[in-house]
Amino acid sequence: MWVPQFPNKINLWHLAAESGRLEGELMLAAMLRLAALNRADGKVTVSLMAGLDDQGVHFVKGKLRTEIELVCQRCLGPLQLPLDVTVSLGLIRVEAEADRLPGEYEPLLVPESGIAVASLVEDELLLALPQIPRHENLRECEANGYAAPGTTTPEAERRQPFAVLASLLPDSKRSN
Ligand SMILES: [Zn+2]
Repeated sequence: MWVPQFPNKINLWHLAAESGRLEGELMLAAMLRLAALNRADGKVTVSLMAGLDDQGVHFVKGKLRTEIELVCQRCLGPLQLPLDVTVSLGLIRVEAEADRLPGEYEPLLVPESGIAVASLVEDELLLALPQIPRHENLRECEANGYAAPGTTTPEAERRQPFAVLASLLPDSKRSN
């Protein structure tokens, strides 16, 4: 699944000390946690730079770009979602160091043994996902068969009275 030029595991401390860059593409299909939500099988364009800032913080900054496909929680239709994620991570060795990071950085716990680039990228994409994915325009939902409440009666609501009736029947028998 790996695009060849990308290292699997990388020591970000070394990369930051050398002001290195991570440029390339990763397959979405290789990101198994994201795959539980995402149906697209495209690539993520990774453009990150590492370095050491004036405050002595080792950082990783840059952009991740991709397009995923989620399920709209209103119409249950496919929702194409372009993701353009800005990354600004401050490297830490232990959790306690997170408090000392300047506000512009999100803490990233990085062991000396290095971390998997795909895992880092996947984490950032997962954090960027909407809590409740929905089409922005209601018309897109309607095109997928969704009817807004109050306009027409959706199939589910038309069935509802019968479901309620069925649940009442045993009670009415008992009361008689
Ligand atoms: Zn929708």
